[in-house]
Amino acid sequence: MRESFVIGGQTVAPRSRALVELPLPQLYTHSSLTLPVHVLHGAREGSRLFVSAALHGDELNGTEIIRRLLKLSVLKQLRGTLIAAPIVNVYGLLHQSRYLPDRRDLNRSFPGSEKGSLAARLANLFMQEIVAKCSHGIDLHTGAIHRNNLPQIRANLDDEETRRLAEAFGVPVLLNSNLRDGSLREAAAERGIPMLLYEAGEALRFNEIAIRVGLQGVVGVMRAMEMLPKSKSRRTTRQEPFLARSSTWVRASSSGLFRKVASLGSRVKKGDVIGLIDAPFSGREMEVGAVASGIIVGCAELPLVHEGEALFHIARFEDVKEVAQQVESMQTLLSPGETLGTMEENEEPPIV
Ligand SMILES: [Zn+2]
Repeated sequence: MRESFVIGGQTVAPRSRALVELPLPQLYTHSSLTLPVHVLHGAREGSRLFVSAALHGDELNGTEIIRRLLKLSVLKQLRGTLIAAPIVNVYGLLHQSRYLPDRRDLNRSFPGSEKGSLAARLANLFMQEIVAKCSHGIDLHTGAIHRNNLPQIRANLDDEETRRLAEAFGVPVLLNSNLRDGSLREAAAERGIPMLLYEAGEALRFNEIAIRVGLQGVVGVMRAMEMLPKSKSRRTTRQEPFLARSSTWVRASSSGLFRKVASLGSRVKKGDVIGLIDAPFSGREMEVGAVASGIIVGCAELPLVHEGEALFHIARFEDVKEVAQQVESMQTLLSPGETLGTMEENEEPPIV
């Protein structure tokens, strides 16, 4: 029989699930606070995967992805252990903010320390109780406030195992990034734990496509890791994802009211007019031109912009036409009300 899983002083037996609440520093009102962690400990040995969300307290799509994930009946066949932390930055979530009350960014505070800042202590708790007990990880994010991201995976794709999992996630767009930035991903990588970062949608909003793509992505990775059985669905027509060669930002050349001409996921050519900035006090209108050919993988949603602000994120690809086609089919297949109708919570998501 497999050994029990111990977390936060609590023991979770094989073939069982538990909600463990890891104690956090209290609020200044002396209200107590905990970090909720769902532990599903399978009967059979296997990988130990953590899935985390809301490290940035206002990024909510991942929290919803985890809610739906935990309801899937296929988890009854789990091999290994799934540790799901739907809200890591509980303090930020309370204030609908990306940051902690000390204004630090949790995802720049890893690996943290026991005696450091509030952010460092939370990061340290997460490292000790979760990352140290896992073999793999997926961290779920969205764009920042008023910024929308096309579903994409960011990971160190030079690492073979990370690349395999990134491909299993099943999004058309992969961005290679290997930053030294104090992120959870960096801290996990230093401990030899392959990690994916999923980015989709915007802060403080649920985005149905981002949620569906993310849910089937996590399930796809768990299947690739043999934590879940292979899909029997005949709809498994997974295609190779595309690795961006590089990416670049298009910034506002003047301040004013911004209108998008091109949308998220569209294919653009260098020089195309992709937005317009109207300067209401001068009556002038400025064109926003694409600085590179590629796919729009991120864009500003707020129509008010200052000169220098990032408006579009364009990723460059070898075969941009192919990528555009796959992005379009992902959006059509998973758009609310299309094809899937209302997906039952117990139903497995189809794999694109
Ligand atoms: Zn984030």
